[in-house]
Amino acid sequence: MNIAIVGSGYVGLVTGVCLASIGHRVICVDNDREKIKKLKEGHLTIYEPGLEEEMKRLMKQKRLSFNASVKEATQQSEVIFIAVGTPSKKNGDADLTYVENVVREIALHMDSYKLIVEKSTVPAETGKRIQRTIQLNLPRNSKVEFDVASNPEFLREGSAISDFMNPDRIVIGVESQRAERILREIYKPLKTKIVVTNINSAEMIKHASNSFLAMKISFINAIAQICDRVGADVLEVSEGMGLDKRIGRNFLDAGIGYGGSCFPKDVDAFIRLSEKSGYHFSLLNEVRNVNEKQKMSFVKLVEDKLWNLKDKVIGVWGLAFKPNTDDMRNAGSLDIIAALQQEGAKIRAYDPQAMGNAQKFLKNVNFCKDPYQVIKGCDCLLILTEWEEFSQVDFKKVIKDMRQAIIFDGRNMMALKDLKKMGFEYYGMGRGKA
Ligand code: NAD
Repeated sequence: MNIAIVGSGYVGLVTGVCLASIGHRVICVDNDREKIKKLKEGHLTIYEPGLEEEMKRLMKQKRLSFNASVKEATQQSEVIFIAVGTPSKKNGDADLTYVENVVREIALHMDSYKLIVEKSTVPAETGKRIQRTIQLNLPRNSKVEFDVASNPEFLREGSAISDFMNPDRIVIGVESQRAERILREIYKPLKTKIVVTNINSAEMIKHASNSFLAMKISFINAIAQICDRVGADVLEVSEGMGLDKRIGRNFLDAGIGYGGSCFPKDVDAFIRLSEKSGYHFSLLNEVRNVNEKQKMSFVKLVEDKLWNLKDKVIGVWGLAFKPNTDDMRNAGSLDIIAALQQEGAKIRAYDPQAMGNAQKFLKNVNFCKDPYQVIKGCDCLLILTEWEEFSQVDFKKVIKDMRQAIIFDGRNMMALKDLKKMGFEYYGMGRGKA
């Protein structure tokens, strides 16, 4: 099938590459001309394991191409996926300006039947708005037929290709048999359960799923707070809870809270959608509050143990919002570093992939070339992203180079007992009385 993907970021690019790799002919579009230029040269604009090799292979086979023109892509494709950003407005609403702009442009250039598919995460009833925008913007007297569908994406950055290729389910929200038939055909090679709903339900499934996962994280973080007070270890609690199939172990990792480009904005947008519909979603408000408090309780712990922060040198391992990505959007490290700098602390930091993006967000940070360089002369070390690389570090060397051997592990990734035995003062999140 001939497919266009408009928006070539974390989701659009992965979707384009994966759809090409299961046999379709795909054009990835972006209005960022610099990005398109790099992609055409075979250079990836994001970090995602395995993506660049696969992209190059498919470009060579002429199954994947890049274009800055929505017009050309629309005219050469039957199906157009919209994968542009849907960031938060100040009031928490999803900002759908990019979606509207793209839809308007598609409508202007539709010369035959098109299926327009929402891949971006959008609030319920966006499909209706898209339909109306197309109607309003089609050239006068145009008789061209079209369908709108919703196909939310559940991939995770860092394991995006494997998530896309082996999904737990594919959700398609459709209002016509033709749209359903086309989407089934597109995803046929993936051999997974396809859940067919109406468009509003598909949109709701995405917001409800992300909100539920955020709720699990906030729940275990609240449990971690109690663990610290009563002398329990949240890792043991998660293990014991997670073995219950009704609960499951995933998303029960206590730490500095969730971040990234999805959970914070999607929870906010869902709260706003609920409010507008007349339902006050107090549970979800609390999910957000717990998450915000969690970051600040980590800062408080550091302040408590370091005494005065002014001119203290603090090392940070990990800046990205999660491992295996370079994405810094809403990363917990941003708020934590800002709060420590506010008190006069000096920050030295390292991240295996996110340093480039981090430099756009963080000021007055001494960026280092590896974990060992970070800890030189530090009064403490913070672990803010659980990169595998950090578990390979030689802590005997680390303890020699630090001024004070204190570790605050915001992701509970290190073995508490081992580090304590080596002479570190070690603080995790919810690991017992600190
Ligand atoms: P992103 O910012 O990485 O990519 C969006 C791209 O759209 C950018 O490259 C931007 O230049 C482009 N764009 C904006 N306006 C355009 C226009 N008018 N024409 C062409 N291109 C345009 O965003 P992302 O992380 O890929 O997220 C995209 C959507 O997918 C969001 O709604 C997000 O919530 C959702 N989503 C993201 C993830 C994730 O892990 N990142 C997972 C599931 C769903």
